[in-house]
Amino acid sequence: MTMFENELKKGNFVISDCSSCKTIVWPPSDYCNNCLAHVTWRKIDPVGKLIEFSKKEEMIFGIVELEGKIRLIGTLKINSSDISEGQCVKLHSCSYDNGPQFTFVPCNGSY
Ligand SMILES: [Zn+2]
Repeated sequence: MTMFENELKKGNFVISDCSSCKTIVWPPSDYCNNCLAHVTWRKIDPVGKLIEFSKKEEMIFGIVELEGKIRLIGTLKINSSDISEGQCVKLHSCSYDNGPQFTFVPCNGSY
């Protein structure tokens, strides 16, 4: 298990920053994939943008971009009549169960 997966299991989404490259290391790793320095871990900014979505029966799935770089596929808890590409969404919950699981809600919603 990586640090990333361990924290996801606890419901925390952490990402790694390389302090020498001043960049986010993604996919998450204990070492920078550019300069191999150790990374520092921090919580992600949960507010992002919905890139695209699709509906499958009652479920809505989408791709969300966080911190202008990280793209995640997750479940959207948004009324299907209110959803639009490019809208502001935030990370509501995350977990790890045979792979990362993410749930997003509208930034200004009542959910
Ligand atoms: Zn680096």
